Amino acid sequence: MTALYGVIGDPIAHSLSPLIHNGWIRDHGLDAEYLAMQVQAGALSSALDTLKSRNCRGLNITLPHKEDAFRLCTTVSDRARSIGAVNTLSFDSDGAWRGDNTDAPGFRHAVVMAFEGSGFRPFASDRPQRAVLIGAGGASRAVAYVFGRERQNAVFCNRTLRRARSLVDVYAPEAGADVLVADLSDLPHHLESCTYVVNATSLGHSGKSVDWPEGRGRLVYDLSYGKAAEAFLEPARLAGWRTVDGLLMLVAQAAVSFEVWFGIRPDMDAGYARAKRTLEGVT
Ligand code: NAP
Repeated sequence: MTALYGVIGDPIAHSLSPLIHNGWIRDHGLDAEYLAMQVQAGALSSALDTLKSRNCRGLNITLPHKEDAFRLCTTVSDRARSIGAVNTLSFDSDGAWRGDNTDAPGFRHAVVMAFEGSGFRPFASDRPQRAVLIGAGGASRAVAYVFGRERQNAVFCNRTLRRARSLVDVYAPEAGADVLVADLSDLPHHLESCTYVVNATSLGHSGKSVDWPEGRGRLVYDLSYGKAAEAFLEPARLAGWRTVDGLLMLVAQAAVSFEVWFGIRPDMDAGYARAKRTLEGVT
């Protein structure tokens, strides 16, 4: 019986995950299929019960269900527990859902690649550098977790200050690293002096960005991709920032999920190329 995998969210029609995972499933000749499933907020528990009986072996979980998924898991990985959100579920042979968070390793991989060839190493503890993280939602928690593990000095900047403060617990600073919390109104000051910027707000989805000072070739890494990233990053590019969108993070977090489920490391370049072609409307 073909094993079922998929992504649960609302909205979900736009998701590139089926394209990415089904490409890898084909590459490896696996008897599996990966579907996008629209499930409304509050209905995750009953959806999981239904899917269990349909040979569902694994799921990705996206907005608005990541915190609910965390609560519904029987066991969770250490990193998912620290982040407080689950984006990958595996159905164990003992009949239990196991939760993990692959946004964190996906982000880490993508940001290292974004700097490749620049002569700059993110997370290098041998020289002082400070990253500004804009946003404090679910994805920001995965970024804060990576920053903490990598001893990245950081400013957590968000419209709702209380949520920015909550990232400090996820960051759990190691010796030698320090972290500031700031309101979005203080962003211009922090952008002047930072080494690089990570955007984890959904501002680009409504066509918005922030006010950018001179970039002087510094990097802005936006977790969003497609039109949302274009809207957020274009003013930064015009101000002299180097810009990278979140498509590779999407593919990298998918690759970690794929490996969790199938024990196979998929071809990330092939996944990225397929996702990029689809985003650009080229078949
Ligand atoms: P979320 O939980 O809804 O958080 C949204 C964040 O955006 C919050 O910090 C929110 O601030 C801020 N925000 C929204 N509208 C704003 C406005 N008008 N002005 C200022 N701040 C505003 O979303 P998420 O799950 O963290 O996702 C954030 C982004 O990351 C999305 O673009 C998503 O597509 C992307 N993402 C990408 C990947 C990937 O693999 N590439 C993975 C996950 C997420 P408040 O706290 O004040 O509301």
